[in-house]
Amino acid sequence: MSISHLARSILESPTLRLNEEARLLRERGEPVIHLGIGEPKNKAPISAVLGAAGKLLAGDVKYTPTDGLPSLKKAILRYTEENYDRVLAPENVIVSEGAKQSLFNILYSICNPQDEVIVLAPYWVSYPEIVKMVQAVPVVVTPEDGSFVPQVSEIERAVSSSTRAIILNSPNNPSGAIFPEETVAKIVAFCEKKGIWLICDDIYHKLVFDGKIAVPAWRHTPRDVESSKVIVVNGVSKIYGMTGFRIGWVAANKELVRVMTNVQAQTTSCVATICQAAAEGALTGLQSYVESLRLTIQNNRDVLMQEIRTFQGVKLVKPEGTFYALPDLRAYRMGSVEMSELLLRKAMVVTVPGREFGMEGHLRLSVSGTVKEITEGVERMKWALDPSSPNEIYIGERKLLRDWL
Ligand code: PMP
Repeated sequence: MSISHLARSILESPTLRLNEEARLLRERGEPVIHLGIGEPKNKAPISAVLGAAGKLLAGDVKYTPTDGLPSLKKAILRYTEENYDRVLAPENVIVSEGAKQSLFNILYSICNPQDEVIVLAPYWVSYPEIVKMVQAVPVVVTPEDGSFVPQVSEIERAVSSSTRAIILNSPNNPSGAIFPEETVAKIVAFCEKKGIWLICDDIYHKLVFDGKIAVPAWRHTPRDVESSKVIVVNGVSKIYGMTGFRIGWVAANKELVRVMTNVQAQTTSCVATICQAAAEGALTGLQSYVESLRLTIQNNRDVLMQEIRTFQGVKLVKPEGTFYALPDLRAYRMGSVEMSELLLRKAMVVTVPGREFGMEGHLRLSVSGTVKEITEGVERMKWALDPSSPNEIYIGERKLLRDWL
């Protein structure tokens, strides 16, 4: 079979693969604990359900304009004004099939082959692959001091005449770190001075803890949206827990949005009408929903911190936002892929190897599930890895003995 070099070079999504593996194990009745995926347990907000149901009941399900239902775009404009202090025009916004497609559209629209895009480690697994899909080159910047936020000087050193964009994700998947405001301000100033796009993936921007906030990059540019290099990506997947509705959007200058609309018109025509109506419902409905999800996740994060404390040799920087934590397990001297496989095989716990995020020796744990999953999951991890923990455990009905340490 002849397959293109480009398509062949794109890696499988490790998080989606693990998700599928966990689903199959569960189907076989195995007591799997899924600390892999960032997907809260909540039901979709009722206003979202009613929005979608309204369209369905009216049988009013046709193509929408490529850039999104005008009423949804209006809700996004209001959201942007409330959360970013920016008054935009409808022509500044395009709705896509999840933030993932938003990112693809952006990169497809701004990159020429061999252009470079700077990706800051630890990074979301899909960034380098999407960059490769548009024939550009991901350039990874890893903080030299072992922290989760690179110094601006490290980013500057990675910039070349081919650099087209920097992707900034704060709060960050997988580390849960929020970039300090000063760092964001410096990156914005640098990008605008150099004419480099700054793609802000703000998908977790309201999932922040302990009163901290992720200051939007837009706050740090005096420019209006038409002349700014800041591009903002957002969506309903995370803060409303509406992952399956597949709604994301981009807010940027009109010219870029116009080009992305052409790209989208030739790929998906428009996003499913029912899902757009659901997103509009979420954005215009009761917002206490988001706060309640945030509090649940913050509590889960606290439970994780508590559980990890007694895990010998594991270091964990307290996540400041998102569903994730990225503990450092280098003390166990095992590759993260091998460790993740061991945990799945022996302890039936799904974790994601840090290698996938550019952080070998770490594992990404998601706290988007229940408290019970977190406590039991960590207990099983300790049993599988930590020789100082009891070597017997009950997993489901089975009593297991650790005989490999
Ligand atoms: N950006 C980041 C950082 C993410 O973690 C995710 C989802 N895991 C996305 C984008 C994609 O979100 P969506 O479901 O809207 O495509």
